[in-house]
Amino acid sequence: MSDVRNVIIIGSGPAGYTAALYTARASLKPLVFEGAVTAGGALMNTTDVENFPGFREGIMGPDLMDNMRAQAERFGAELIPDDVIAVDLSDEIKTVTDSAGTVHRAKAVIVTTGSQHRKLGLPREDELSGRGVSWCATCDGFFFKDQDIAVIGGGDTAMEEATFLSRFAKSVTVVHRRDTLRASKAMQERAFADPKISFIWDSEVAEIHGENKLSSLTLRNLKSGETSELPVTGLFIAIGHDPRTELFKGQLDLDDEGYLKVEAPSTRTNLTGVFAAGDVVDHTYRQAITAAGTGCSSALDAERYLASLS
Ligand code: FAD
Repeated sequence: MSDVRNVIIIGSGPAGYTAALYTARASLKPLVFEGAVTAGGALMNTTDVENFPGFREGIMGPDLMDNMRAQAERFGAELIPDDVIAVDLSDEIKTVTDSAGTVHRAKAVIVTTGSQHRKLGLPREDELSGRGVSWCATCDGFFFKDQDIAVIGGGDTAMEEATFLSRFAKSVTVVHRRDTLRASKAMQERAFADPKISFIWDSEVAEIHGENKLSSLTLRNLKSGETSELPVTGLFIAIGHDPRTELFKGQLDLDDEGYLKVEAPSTRTNLTGVFAAGDVVDHTYRQAITAAGTGCSSALDAERYLASLS
């Protein structure tokens, strides 16, 4: 079975590249499918990353990912900027099919396909990402000291982001489509009690404005149809994430929200020889460093699994 790889890694964010680095240094010659469109993962779409340890002045997201990629490659990881379109993970030898229809075989598979934050679907949203528009208060809140910020959403994440941001911001306005919140009672009470947080109900963002930097939003009241302007320099979109698990449905166990289930604290999935790490598993922390951390764990788990086969 000379064409059978030790390990194939699907996904190329901090989790995938870290798994690649560790398995490459363990002489396992990993094959990594990086994805066709966003090789490098979520940080390819951002500017400054100030909270990844080791970079005292911070680092641009794409530079961080280029470094991780080059480090994995240096130790022999084979990196392919292509999508995996099908997998069969149930047998001892797993198969992974690329977009050209070529079938690759491996004894172990590590899944690090990440998750996609939900977007509002508005024209300036992507252009102003990292320039006022954000999906992560923990990552970017610090950049918005003494500024006026809007948070979109009405669930636990939105309330958590709003209360976190109120530490830095001059004001936080929560804009929600309904007249009640979905968030837990405790989270709601915390937000209502915060003097810096105010609410605009029954409303959605109709337009995002700003040239190189966000300057304001046009809001539309869904009941009256009236529009109003909200001058803000920060917009945090907290309307949920979709883990990229479509490919694995029916094979790997998913939780109620569609994330891959693992036997925590290990990265083992329900199928022997299949491991998962990063944001495709994690709906709590969702940071580059935590994704890299579990990516490392998945490599060590795969390494031990492969050793147990011989
Ligand atoms: P991802 O980075 O999402 O990577 C997954 C990869 O898998 C993607 O490249 C995708 O193309 C690939 N993939 C998916 N499906 C397939 C397939 N079928 N075949 C092949 N490849 C596939 N975190 C911080 O710690 N600090 C920050 O400052 C920070 N800023 C952020 C700014 C933005 C705008 C965003 C969106 C996130 C930010 N984060 C930040 C969060 C951080 O980026 C994520 O937590 C982290 O990237 C998750 O890593 P991951 O490896 O699990 O997945």
